[in-house]
Amino acid sequence: MLAAMPVTPTSPPERDKPAAGGRTVRAGGDACPGALRLHTADDGALARVRLPAGLLTDRQAVALALVAEELGDGNLDITSRGNVQLRGLADGCGGELADRLRGAGLLPSDRYDRVRNVAASPLCGLDGAAEPSRAGATDVQAWARALDALLCTPASDAPAPYDGLDLSGLSGRFLFGLDDGRGDIVALGPDVTLIASGEEQAVLCFAATGPGLRIAARDAPRAAALAAREFLAALDHSGTRAWRVRDLAPEHRPGVEALADRLTAAGIASDPLPRPRLPHGPPVGPGLVTGRDGRCALSVTAPLGRLTAAQWRLVTTAAAQDGTGELRVTPWRGIVVPGLPAGTARSRLTALADAGLVTSTTSPWHRAGACAGRPGCAKSLADVRADAAACLTGLPPAGLPVYWSGCERRCGHPGGTWVDVLATGDGYRIAVRDGATETGPETEVSTAHTTAGGLADAVAAARTSAD
Ligand code: SF4
Repeated sequence: MLAAMPVTPTSPPERDKPAAGGRTVRAGGDACPGALRLHTADDGALARVRLPAGLLTDRQAVALALVAEELGDGNLDITSRGNVQLRGLADGCGGELADRLRGAGLLPSDRYDRVRNVAASPLCGLDGAAEPSRAGATDVQAWARALDALLCTPASDAPAPYDGLDLSGLSGRFLFGLDDGRGDIVALGPDVTLIASGEEQAVLCFAATGPGLRIAARDAPRAAALAAREFLAALDHSGTRAWRVRDLAPEHRPGVEALADRLTAAGIASDPLPRPRLPHGPPVGPGLVTGRDGRCALSVTAPLGRLTAAQWRLVTTAAAQDGTGELRVTPWRGIVVPGLPAGTARSRLTALADAGLVTSTTSPWHRAGACAGRPGCAKSLADVRADAAACLTGLPPAGLPVYWSGCERRCGHPGGTWVDVLATGDGYRIAVRDGATETGPETEVSTAHTTAGGLADAVAAARTSAD
């Protein structure tokens, strides 16, 4: 048994600054929490458990629920990368937490824990009954497993000139995106993106923009790991601090030309694609998804990104008893359970709706989120989760994504076009924001200074203003 790990405060001492072109100049160190590096919040310590591609077995899911109940506050938060956060962890529980996560196979590497940020199309291989072309030609979950293994044992794949550039130097925010061709993951703007192209090929690019490289699908995980090293080399050469590709000035960003040479040296053939077709598609929504084999996948969303351990167990039980035993946690704060018989899937979905999970795109809770807020975060100017819940209960269905934030950091806010509900200290300021760039155009549509009817009306108006 390891000694109890110290809880490391991770709040950055300095503020990041916006720069031209949507860049962010990073002032402090990377304070991203992990399974070992806990963040101190007002409601206790916080741990982030990385789940590459969101993949969990039912046994791992049960282990997480037990950890949440016995060491934390009994809830499981799903992040915008499809990871799970545990809050309210008691002082001194770090060692036991790490042991339990290791025992469940959820902490395969201490050194590389925080760099295992891999998002993958959650419906890959599960849909396509109505649209066979959308079924996903390549198993991107298999890519994710292979990439995760490379991230956890990078010494075996570190050719010159990357000597000394260890992947543990990546920020906890650096994101690998594995898109099966439907465009859901491309829309997240990963730092290294792989896009399946047919069954045999893939497109590799930085920051989900062109130019790119065409490579063989079998080489995709290894090429992605090398692309991350190329980012570290570019970062090293720039002499600046950056967590993500887009934080670097354009002249310092890694290029696919240099990467192509590195791939060749590693035995990976590539062809340049000056203007690759980059798909953009919607995220998976809540409901049932029918596959070509007639089996169904359950898709549910956590209200404001949070499940109680009891709700989590209901989903886990569906996977264990009626599904394949696999769960896929999504970057849209949901969970997909593959492989249920159609009749059973419908009754399971009804039970999950009765338990308070979001199971329909017509729910006002669909595409609604909130940061931790009070009392968990000292920076928050309001109990945004309670205010959001009160507001959503009276709202009409959906519309634009909406996100409540307790302060201007807006942790975990969605991308694309979304409604920003920002606590001001004496109410909320509501704006429609275009997140295409971090400094993108913002249209303020209304303001409200109450959490009662006025706020609900203003949020409803904003959600339908540009949808
Ligand atoms: S956005 Fe929310 S969670 Fe993030 S620092 Fe502000 S109040 Fe805290």
